Amino acid sequence: MVMIDMGSVDLSAPNSPLYARVKNALERSNSWPEVLRHFGMDQKQLSGKHCSCPGCGGKDRFRFDNKDNKGTFICSQGNGEMLAGGGWELIHHITGMNFQEALPVVAEILGVEKAGFAAPLPMRDKSGPAAPSHAASPSPLAGRKPIAGSEPFAGCEPFAGCEPFAGCEPFATSIDWKKLDETTQKRYDYLRRVARESARMDRLSGKERDLALGYFRHRGIDFGQIGWPAIFFHPDLPDRQQNWRGPALIVWMTRPMDEPQAMQQGRVVGMQRLWLDPDLGKPGHQPINKGKAPIETAKKSFAICDGAMVGSRAKLYESSARPAMQVVGEGVETVLSWLTLAARRNLHPDAVDACLSTSQLKTWRFPGQIASRGENLHILEDNDEAGKLAVLKLRSVYPEATRYQSPVGNDFNDYLISFSQPQPRSVSCPAMS
Ligand SMILES: [Zn+2]
Repeated sequence: MVMIDMGSVDLSAPNSPLYARVKNALERSNSWPEVLRHFGMDQKQLSGKHCSCPGCGGKDRFRFDNKDNKGTFICSQGNGEMLAGGGWELIHHITGMNFQEALPVVAEILGVEKAGFAAPLPMRDKSGPAAPSHAASPSPLAGRKPIAGSEPFAGCEPFAGCEPFAGCEPFATSIDWKKLDETTQKRYDYLRRVARESARMDRLSGKERDLALGYFRHRGIDFGQIGWPAIFFHPDLPDRQQNWRGPALIVWMTRPMDEPQAMQQGRVVGMQRLWLDPDLGKPGHQPINKGKAPIETAKKSFAICDGAMVGSRAKLYESSARPAMQVVGEGVETVLSWLTLAARRNLHPDAVDACLSTSQLKTWRFPGQIASRGENLHILEDNDEAGKLAVLKLRSVYPEATRYQSPVGNDFNDYLISFSQPQPRSVSCPAMS
């Protein structure tokens, strides 16, 4: 038997104060099963009996034996080569997250506060003032057909009605929204400023509207067919590093542990900015960078603190807190392209998320209050090694998820664009399994 290779684990990290508190919390009670449940393990996989592996599938290659309450397991990987280890190694096997990435997540699950042994937060009176949410004004999507509407989020402005710590708290987060540390607060303030200066795409008019729509039209994406996603537009966003300023599209990143209503409560951990070619849509102008600004890095993400983006995603459409059909894929354009294709087949999911990278796709999760084996989850897979691996990891957590792969090119935008080529043909079913 070999112990799992944890080469990615920085052995200095276990001495960190956060780890000390997490370890303490883990040892105080038999917490690993509960922690591992958050990483997608089900009752059967936690039962101690042979069963399919949450990390690599199979039928009965895996056993969780939780020796000394350390979350231990063994897995024969289907090739007889034994993997064994404790809870951290198991998280790594399931999600690919290394120790540094997993530590803050486990801390959240256990309710361990990141910022030292400060006085505990005052308990919220359950009968106390309700969140200043949108309870008074029902969601504009209520009773509306999935994603046909133009109001992907309740509330009109980004972070509307934001009051940190308002509303319910599924489990404590390592981002202490009530008191962000100084650097995080500064970065968060910047995020909010950008949000204040931005407008939702469907609210744009004139030149700005042409510019934003031009970028997507160039890719074959038509919001007339799929409804408006939660994408924002900044008319003149500076990027000092690249000595550039200009119009940009923005999506906000939120985490499942901050749901429900992460947006409404202002629990936004980052954003992705895409600077546009400012001349896009002008008569006679030929886009040189596929509609993107002529700078080296036209697409940049921004996080309020280290690790904040782990497990986060941009919620492009959401019309139900318990979606009947949840779609997730890598890249905003890929996801919107698939939706455009799906709309032609009259398929309208009620929740659509875009991850920014394969590592985000791999660690995508339903919010804690939704129990799912993936029967309502539809994953879009890119045709490359990293994309396939990410989907494999995600499907090990949601084994009943449906996978879609573009029959053309690398992703669904390639497929969508292939339809604008001279040879007309019918849309074949994009489903694979
Ligand atoms: Zn395995």
